[in-house]
Amino acid sequence: MSSLDRVSEQQHRHKSGFETRAIHAGYEPDPTTGAVIPPIYATSTYKQDGVGGLRGGYEYSRSGNPTRTALEGALAALEEGERGFAFASGLAAEDTLVRSVLKPGDHVVFPNDAYGGTWRLFDKVQRVWGIDYTPAPVSDLEKVAAAIRPGTTKLVWVETPTNPLLNIGDIEALAALAHDAGALLVVDNTFASPYLQQPLALGADVVVHSTTKYVGGHSDVVGGALVVKDLEVAEQVGFHQNAMGAVPGPFDAFLTHRGLKTLAVRMDRHCDNAERVVEFLSAHPSVGEVIYPGLESHPGHEVASRQMKRYGGMVSFRVTGGEAQALAVCDRTEVFTLGESLGGVESLIEHPGRMTHASVAGTDLEVPADLVRLSVGIETAHDLVADLERALEG
Ligand SMILES: *Cc1c(COP(=O)(O)O)cnc(C)c1O
Repeated sequence: MSSLDRVSEQQHRHKSGFETRAIHAGYEPDPTTGAVIPPIYATSTYKQDGVGGLRGGYEYSRSGNPTRTALEGALAALEEGERGFAFASGLAAEDTLVRSVLKPGDHVVFPNDAYGGTWRLFDKVQRVWGIDYTPAPVSDLEKVAAAIRPGTTKLVWVETPTNPLLNIGDIEALAALAHDAGALLVVDNTFASPYLQQPLALGADVVVHSTTKYVGGHSDVVGGALVVKDLEVAEQVGFHQNAMGAVPGPFDAFLTHRGLKTLAVRMDRHCDNAERVVEFLSAHPSVGEVIYPGLESHPGHEVASRQMKRYGGMVSFRVTGGEAQALAVCDRTEVFTLGESLGGVESLIEHPGRMTHASVAGTDLEVPADLVRLSVGIETAHDLVADLERALEG
């Protein structure tokens, strides 16, 4: 097949269905061996055919590695972006983005319930280097608009759904606000995954992922990604990815790409099981409130229905017995494993107030003490419901 044929085949695949892209985009079977899966290129450098005679552009593995290239191509195709970039972690991706598009003196509007690590990166690291931020709730367009400093705000940063209260931001409306102010809209799409939500198609400029979560999906690798819509921003990010060097190794890129191929079927099962769990919790007398964007009672339900395919695998709930009962439920489950993180095939349970969100106690980000967060996995739904039933009664 000529390289032009390959390009047209890639373009064809770009337009094909999500599942087809997840499995095929970014890689053609190896021309020498026919390997259908990208090999793990455990090499730091590449033989040159004469000085400057690079094969396929590969020179040194910080700058480029074929295992990583395959993953980056697949991520770009799934988020429908111009280019994808893989990083050693979600936070490494975020740091690289900030330093690619901002300079000292710039200002960012930032979710008032951002992922704790992202908040720490802005509050404790970027601020020291002269980048200021203002927190605003992603679900309140007026407050986001009021937080924008005309001329100085260069990024509006959004998560949707947020963690752990699953607030929903209207991506299309937020993009319009950001663009009117001359700022870029960045969406952290970790909770939804590209299967459930494609922010670039809704007007966002950059998508951020902690691929540690649903994209990798098996709780066996830490990684991050950026997918960029605009070629100019892509050039900046590409330069900084190489200049800053926070890249994943080929083993990590391989694992993440392996997980990505089954994203669609995993996400559908995560959603099926989450719906079953929500139905059970909503009818339980010890549960005061169930927080899930799929519920009509959720304030973001209408926006979520417009911009998400389904509502995801994350469920939060408040118990009527206060913090003591919330902690007891977390202690008693057996199928739901007590632990931080999310998005893997196995179900996890945690107490945000004492665990993931302990560092934000006493700030705007503080969460209720009677709150429990579930990452609903893809085990048998009946076992998940029975486990919660025991834990709530016990
Ligand atoms: C986990 C997470 C991050 C950070 O990613 P790491 O891979 O842990 O560095 C960022 N945003 C969200 C929403 C996350 O859940």
